[in-house]
Amino acid sequence: MAKKESRRNDQEEQQRCAACRGEETFPYWCETCGRSVPEKRCPYCGLKAQKKKG
Ligand SMILES: [Zn+2]
Repeated sequence: MAKKESRRNDQEEQQRCAACRGEETFPYWCETCGRSVPEKRCPYCGLKAQKKKG
């Protein structure tokens, strides 16, 4: 997987640049909806969301 360590950041940005899509705004993540949410309980589906790492 880690063929080019120096390019690691580039790859991560290309694969999951959620910030570019405006989806990395909130501190929690709802796996059910597949999007970030502002609260620990997802306001979209009502299920529990996870706090993001980092
Ligand atoms: Zn949800």
